[in-house]
Amino acid sequence: MYNISKIREDFPILSRTVYGKPLVYLDNGATTQKPRCVVESITDEYYSVNANVHRGVHFLSQQATNLHEASRETVRKFINARGTNEIVFTRGTTESINLVVSTFADSQMQAGDEVIVSVMEHHSNIVSWQLQAARKGIVLKVIPMNDRGELLLDEYEKLFSPRTRIVSVTHVSNVLGTINPVDKLIEIAHAHNVPVLIDGAQSIPHLPVDVQALDADFYVFSGHKVYGPTGIGVLYGKEDWLDRLPPYQGGGEMIKNVSFEKTTFNELPFKFEAGTPDYIGSTALAKALDYVSAIGMENIEAYEHELTEYAMQHLKEIPGMRIFGEAERKSSVISFLVGNIHHFDMGTLLDRLGIAVRTGHHCAEPLMHRLGIEGTVRASFALYNTKEEIDVLAAGIERVARMFL
Ligand code: PMP
Repeated sequence: MYNISKIREDFPILSRTVYGKPLVYLDNGATTQKPRCVVESITDEYYSVNANVHRGVHFLSQQATNLHEASRETVRKFINARGTNEIVFTRGTTESINLVVSTFADSQMQAGDEVIVSVMEHHSNIVSWQLQAARKGIVLKVIPMNDRGELLLDEYEKLFSPRTRIVSVTHVSNVLGTINPVDKLIEIAHAHNVPVLIDGAQSIPHLPVDVQALDADFYVFSGHKVYGPTGIGVLYGKEDWLDRLPPYQGGGEMIKNVSFEKTTFNELPFKFEAGTPDYIGSTALAKALDYVSAIGMENIEAYEHELTEYAMQHLKEIPGMRIFGEAERKSSVISFLVGNIHHFDMGTLLDRLGIAVRTGHHCAEPLMHRLGIEGTVRASFALYNTKEEIDVLAAGIERVARMFL
């Protein structure tokens, strides 16, 4: 049973007001709110365990290390990786992507080699490749989409050439909500002997993910979008690939032996974890993953699907409503514009009604160009949102729309 009132009690912030109105938080695509167990994990660990991990002989250091490494196992289990050596802690999706892009381009790509991305990528999965493109002469090829916001698989297949070295695509679009058929994208890439990096920032909070079933070579996500703390994220990489890539940053922890003549590097995953890791964050992230696992990712997916269907149905009834992203398989993100009302005006006025939405290009300007718009209003739902909140959103949009008539 999905006990929504009990779930909402776990998130103290949801009962606050803004401008005297009950908060309706619909900006979950940007970041999610935190359940009590996550926040308490942070204070508890600072109050009772805190010590630097891995190199300490003393009790607290060992306890902190055990917590940190147990968290790695929680992440492994959550995405069904083969081993904890395939789980690298980073600062978030952006850092995970940059780690792969930079080390992959350095070690596996030459001038003229190609990477395939999609038209609906977040800037983090475009600009990081462009930096390498400028440095190494790498070429970006782009998978187009149809007007519903679905990638064109036939066109995707045509992009492969003998110079294709990697495919780097998002699992779920942060603007359109499209759930891309990443299993098929990966299968096609592998038929060309090309590895695939999946940006899981918007999928991990909403869908069960099994990296082995997908056969993803790299899969990345951020803790803060899945009810965990800010500043921690994950890079999953197949052992074989992580072994082949060079270190990303130099420092403590990532080395085996250092001399001025020759330095040897630590084993996986530590080769990619230079410096003191966010061990407080990893414990809290594990708590967040335990929290969603206890509810069940399948249950969360079904609940959010129902919310999204309800919202799509009600928002479409609003005169002048234009929704961007009507894919067959859609996650809980709805981007829209109403009449000629600027997205910023809509967002600002909804805010005065207590409704938090995001406005703008959502770090996906190339997608905005494809849609022929400058930005949208985006409502994104999480496991704690309700149909009543969607009613408040719909009424709020109608009220704002009437002001512009
Ligand atoms: N990719 C996608 C699809 C996203 O939605 C986001 C966050 N908006 C990112 C990458 C970047 O995530 P972070 O800022 O947590 O690194």
